[in-house]
Amino acid sequence: LRSIEDMLNDDKELKSLRDISRREYLKKREEKKLQLLKEEIEDEEYLFEGVKVTEEERKELELKKETYRLAQERAKLIGDDSDEEGGRYRMPDAFEDMKGVSDEKKRLQVLTKRYKEDPSAAAGKLKTDQQEWEDHLINKAITSKTPKAAPPGEKSYDLLLDDFRKEDLLAGYDNREAESEDELEIEAKSIAEERRKLPVFPYREELIKAVHEYQVLVVVGETGSGKTTQIPQYLIEEGFGGVCCTQPRRVAAMSVAARVATEVGCKLGSKVGYSIRFEDCTSDKTVIKYMTDGMLLREFLSEPDLGQYHVIIIDEAHERSLSTDIAMGLVKDIARARGDSIRIIISSATLNAEKFRDYFDDAPIFNIPGRRYPVDIYYTKAPEADYLDACCVSVLQIHASQPPGDILVFLTGQEEIETAVEILNQRTRGLGSKVQELMIAPIYSTLPADMQAKIFEPTPPGARKVVLATNIAETSVTIPGIVYVIDPGFCKQKSYNPKTGMESLIVVPVSRAGAVQRTGRAGRTQPGKCFRMFTKWSFYNEMEEDTIPEILRTNLAQVVLLLKSLGIDDLINFDFIDAPPSEVLIKSLEQLYALGALNDRGELTKLGRRMAELPLDPMMAKSLIGSEKYSCSEEVATICAMLSVNNSIFYRPKDKGVIADAARAAFARGGGGDHMALLNCYNQWRDSGFSTQWCYENFVQARSIKQARDVRDQLDGLMDRVEVEKTSNLDGDAICKAIASGFFYNATRLEKGGTYRTLKNPHTVHIHPSSCLFKSEKLPRWLIYHELVFTTKEFMRQVIQIESAWLLEIAPFYYQSKE
Ligand code: ADP
Ligand code: MG
Repeated sequence: LRSIEDMLNDDKELKSLRDISRREYLKKREEKKLQLLKEEIEDEEYLFEGVKVTEEERKELELKKETYRLAQERAKLIGDDSDEEGGRYRMPDAFEDMKGVSDEKKRLQVLTKRYKEDPSAAAGKLKTDQQEWEDHLINKAITSKTPKAAPPGEKSYDLLLDDFRKEDLLAGYDNREAESEDELEIEAKSIAEERRKLPVFPYREELIKAVHEYQVLVVVGETGSGKTTQIPQYLIEEGFGGVCCTQPRRVAAMSVAARVATEVGCKLGSKVGYSIRFEDCTSDKTVIKYMTDGMLLREFLSEPDLGQYHVIIIDEAHERSLSTDIAMGLVKDIARARGDSIRIIISSATLNAEKFRDYFDDAPIFNIPGRRYPVDIYYTKAPEADYLDACCVSVLQIHASQPPGDILVFLTGQEEIETAVEILNQRTRGLGSKVQELMIAPIYSTLPADMQAKIFEPTPPGARKVVLATNIAETSVTIPGIVYVIDPGFCKQKSYNPKTGMESLIVVPVSRAGAVQRTGRAGRTQPGKCFRMFTKWSFYNEMEEDTIPEILRTNLAQVVLLLKSLGIDDLINFDFIDAPPSEVLIKSLEQLYALGALNDRGELTKLGRRMAELPLDPMMAKSLIGSEKYSCSEEVATICAMLSVNNSIFYRPKDKGVIADAARAAFARGGGGDHMALLNCYNQWRDSGFSTQWCYENFVQARSIKQARDVRDQLDGLMDRVEVEKTSNLDGDAICKAIASGFFYNATRLEKGGTYRTLKNPHTVHIHPSSCLFKSEKLPRWLIYHELVFTTKEFMRQVIQIESAWLLEIAPFYYQSKE
């Protein structure tokens, strides 16, 4: 039986399926398992015929037959369920808790025992009716609300399925008020006192000494120990000059800067500031500057030795974001050049910092011992078919049954978070005043700053906060008060196929290291609980040990362009901490060549130099510069700005869905696709005098579109810098051509059945449901997409209509007429 599991684990088809859809994966896995079992049973029956076999062998064969029969029953259940949207099923898996048990005998014992415990299963009376099956689980879930006794730290739990019942919500309520006193007391303590309590504080002097002594220092400490907020302050207090601290995420840079400004007691943007793309919140007075790692790279362009900084902190190095990796390569270089006038700190939240030590020529590692409370881990017994729903159910369940403490849920992105907010609002609305308040606080990168602040607001006594976060809450920001973590085990990741040159965002299982970090968020201030929406088996057998560094799974065009403009020509020999595959480098060079940024000798062209000046993806930069030719740079700049606040412009309240759809359709009426709809939307808003009222009336998110306006203003300045002539032209064709001049690579053609086929490396893609062309009656023959998102299918998000002839006109070296 184990060999079957092994075979299934090694199965290539299953592996690739797993990254695409967990549901499909499970279904397929079950099918294969059945097939394999059947084959083995047949083989053995044949082999055993007329031969004396041991008792054990016979028993094993019997068990296999039994397993086979049960698997068949299960397959039926799954088959019934899977057509249903959002349906859910469970697969009792005999091997769930068998990690580390290598002895075949023990497996048999467990299997036998399992069947003994559940005779109805062994007798083949497994309920085939879906409802009965779920009822059974519901019953189990209710009785196991206080989790069953199990070995400490490793437990299984059941979810309450389907509708959450009112009476359950009231259960376990009484103990809430008594315990909130402590919380109030903690909140009442002043910030200064809080700072002294952080794990890094006792090491202040030692740390300063080490920074004086060593040019490069690797600092390791758990999330929340004070690395990001405290170390820059210590350095400034000790007379170091300008300190900059990089963050892989813009939200982190902003929120941490705000926090530190409060601690220092200054206005944000004065002594303490931040700098992210399209937003510089610093001044001459700024001595502590938080910035995205990408911004640091841009600073190399204007100041190659980063002379304004005395200390550079590369924070969150364990994340291994693309820009962080490149920044490390570049600071390593300037460290040699600048000698004693610069100090470098590499800061990481994970213990395996040897990699950084080795990369920085044996730099010493400074350890900040963490403080951590135990966290109980619960696994689901079977994979979750609909983890989003399962998460929401768990949130409500915790809210109803667990002692005070805030909840943190890890989701993969904005869309998922918005759905979860909606579900939770809906399900708590009907519950009236009997239930204590559940404060729902989302956080993701494009969420406007004032709404981000909500996650840090203290929870009023009696209420409970639930933070719905992307990976940002894994290590970048520490949210106080979290006691419960719900982890579905997924994150959105960029993935790049160098053969096709396609980059897409896909939802993938997190790594074990990631899951462990997430769990840690529950035990910062008191013992906590972490609910993993995946099986223990999956944790040990299906998840990768570590996340693959971004540099190994991304299109490098932007980085290559940047390095080229920094005068680094020999990319193959650049000192990468993990060198990207050379085929990826070559593909990026090809792409830049196709865009006209490099000449055929691989040297930067004038166009390439201008493109590098723009903090945009090379394709977008090319579109903006290319718009000169079509005299529509104003329009293209607007489109770029609107695209940069991705997918948060339009909103659709459920109760007014039809009106919202109509409002949205009105923007798209002129044709052309999503880009044109965005442009129309912006222009109408502008004509309304940037009216907020107008936004309400048209179901446009005022905050998001204001953000787009800020970006638009920034782009305006940048266009002056790279001398893009500002001209306006509302001709749709001209605008589409300008966009196509950068994105010709993403051209697709209509197929039968309303799907599209990419031109280069042909494969089928679909229009994203959020597009204005989704389910359109008259689909354009040709489309260019802005980005690909891979969820259940490969979706094109934001599409623009083109004509095939334009491709020949715009990129003749790339596309040739077939006729
Ligand atoms: P590290 O970088 O080591 O993960 P941080 O310096 O980010 O740790 O956080 C240190 C402490 O500061 C944490 O206890 C966290 O709760 C607190 N903190 C950080 N940002 C905020 C904020 N915006 N509001 C309240 N507390 C915060
Ligand atoms: Mg930090």
